[in-house]
This record gives sequence, structure tokens and C-alpha cells, in this order.
Amino acid sequence: MEFRDLKAQYNQYKSAIDDAIQNVLNSGAYIGGKEVNELEKELAEYVGVKHCITCANGTDALSLVLMAWDVKEGDAVFVPDFTFFSTGEVVSFNGATPVFVDVDEKTFNIDPVTLKQSIEKVIEEGNLNPKVVIPVDLFGLPANYDEIEKIAKQYDLLVLEDGAQGFGGNINGKMACSFGEAATTSFFPAKPLGCYGDGGAIFTNCDETAELLRSYKVHGKGENKYDNVRIGVNSRLDTMQAAILQVKLKAFIEHELDGVNSAYQLYSEKLRNFVETPYIPEGYYSSFAQYTIKLESKEQRDGLQARLKENDIPSMIYYIKPMHLQQAFANLTYRDEDFIITNKLCDTVLSLPMHPYLKEEEITKVCDVIKEFMKD
Ligand SMILES: *Cc1c(COP(=O)(O)O)cnc(C)c1O
Repeated sequence: MEFRDLKAQYNQYKSAIDDAIQNVLNSGAYIGGKEVNELEKELAEYVGVKHCITCANGTDALSLVLMAWDVKEGDAVFVPDFTFFSTGEVVSFNGATPVFVDVDEKTFNIDPVTLKQSIEKVIEEGNLNPKVVIPVDLFGLPANYDEIEKIAKQYDLLVLEDGAQGFGGNINGKMACSFGEAATTSFFPAKPLGCYGDGGAIFTNCDETAELLRSYKVHGKGENKYDNVRIGVNSRLDTMQAAILQVKLKAFIEHELDGVNSAYQLYSEKLRNFVETPYIPEGYYSSFAQYTIKLESKEQRDGLQARLKENDIPSMIYYIKPMHLQQAFANLTYRDEDFIITNKLCDTVLSLPMHPYLKEEEITKVCDVIKEFMKD
């Protein structure tokens, strides 16, 4: 059994993907070109925003937005404590200060009440200028944008949706990657919509931000690549990856999202009485980047993971360490007691095999091992 079976997907779409790659090879245009432009249009249309700007990966996508918004030293950027490192890394990389915020126990996403308290605390201390909040759509579930956008408005913060795991989700039909002033995603192979290497994209309705992003991603270009009006980076989505994504986007929309949601239903029906299963609030739709259960203690979680492994079932711990405990952020001052929920989640979560090609027998096998373990 695979944790995320990328080969099953390739086998199903082999001829279309092989053709797409061969077409790029035959064209002789390996950077930019028609595939990248078409893909950007398709992605923008799917998400329902005006502009999509592709780039080299999901980390660059976040960083480019912070560059375009002139986020710099002295600025506070609010980031969930329970996320992948990139979300906080890009803040420090751009010279600003990440302020970690504890998450909601049930959704695992940034807690709006705690966010508000963190913003007030930063204002009270008076050392930093509250500028941006980066909510993360963790494990595929969109963050609570209703509340977050209200708070952002009240304190004049920009909202940057980190949709690296959330692409394809929605809240009452409004698509992930369409929230806030800008949103980003990643096409890392194991993300909901993945390519065969690295890739990323930025979404925004703002013309000015889009124009700045198109400059920053190409060495701060002005009229062209050899007219440089600002310090930028080199961050492109390869033509080959764009061609692959065009095929995969169709599969994603046609059946892959349904596939992971069926797997979620089946898992949760079987496991509900044994462990804490993922919570999807009313009106929310998850793209299930991960199917993550919660155990009662670290001992129980680690024991279950070992038991799964004995049965050749892969599982992962996302995430084992809170952001505020990462050595890279050791220069920041924080109080460990401000992160009660994240600390607990890091000890008790476990992600099970999840992908659109997961078979019913595989889900049954995983659940049987878990049930057996929980009865012991
Ligand atoms: C994967 C991920 C990123 C970074 O994406 P890359 O393409 O790997 O750079 C950023 N944020 C979150 C929440 C992620 O899961």
C-alpha cells in the first residue's frame, strides 16, 4: 500500500501525459510558452480569480507575495503554529517577524480568537507593525476565512491564503485559493494537484499585485528581462510541468476530488467509534491533502504507528514539531504555554494513506488494524 500512490495516477493517464511531455520536447520551447499561459488561464478560471501567476514552487509563491507587498523588517506576519515550515520561513526570509498563533483543536487551522489576541498583543508591545496574516488550509480544509477576513479588516492586515494543501477545497462553493488579497498553492507531487517535480502558483484579483509579481519572479523585470527595475528572483514553472498539470487538472476536477472525499467518508464511517476522525464544518469541502486522525496520547499514537508499520501500512506524522520549537526560530521569544493545542496535536495526530486511487479493500485493511489496536 502506498501513502500517496502517484504511480497509479500516472498509469491511468500515461498516454495523455506522455503525449503532453513529447509535445513539449518536439516544440523546442522549454521555458515559458503556450502551456504555461494556458495553464494559468485554466487555473484562474477554476479558482474564480482574475490572475494566476505560476512560479517554481509553493515556498517561492508565498515569498513573492510578501515581496510584492513590501513586507520587511519591523513587520509582524501572523502564521499558524501548526503548519509546514515554509509558511513561517518566508516571513523571516523577507526580514519580517513571524508571530505564531495557536490553532483550532478540531479544524487544525489558525484560531481566529487567538489570532485577534496575538494582534492586540503585538500592538500593545509596540515593537512590530502588524501587516499580514497567512492562514493555512491545513490537510485540505480551508481556514475560517469569514472570521479571519473580519479581523484582518478591523486591524488593517492583508490576508495571504497558503493553499499549498488546500487547492480544490471550498467554502459554500467559494474555491480555496480565492480568499484574502492573494493566495498561493504548491504543485509538489504529493499535494492535492501535483506535478512531476516542483511548481507553484499565486492567485489574486488585484491588477497591481499581479503586475508586481510578474516582475519579481523574473529578476525584477521592467520592460523585459534585461531591463531590471527592482531586485527580484528567478522563479518559473517549467513548460514540461505545465503540460503535465494541464492533463492532471482535468483528472483532478473530473474525479480525483470525489475520489478522496469518498475515501474520507469510508474511513470515517469505519473509524468514528474508535478514534477522532477529521472534522469538516458545515458548508466546507476539503481536498484531503491528508486524512489525519487524533489519538489520546503520544504513547498511543506511536504505538498505533508501529502497529500499522508491522502490517506494511505507511503512515506519517504531520507535524511532529510546532513552528515555535523549530531551532531556526530560536531567536524569537515565545511562551510555550501559548501553544497548548499545537503542542498536543504534534503528539497525537497521525495521517493515514490518502489519495484518489485508494481502494476500498485498502481502507478496510487500514481500519481493521486500527480497530484491533484500539480494542487491545
Ligand atoms: C508544501 C507546502 C508549502 C511549500 O510548497 P513547496 O512547493 O514545497 O515549496 C507551503 N505551505 C504549506 C502549508 C505546504 O504544505
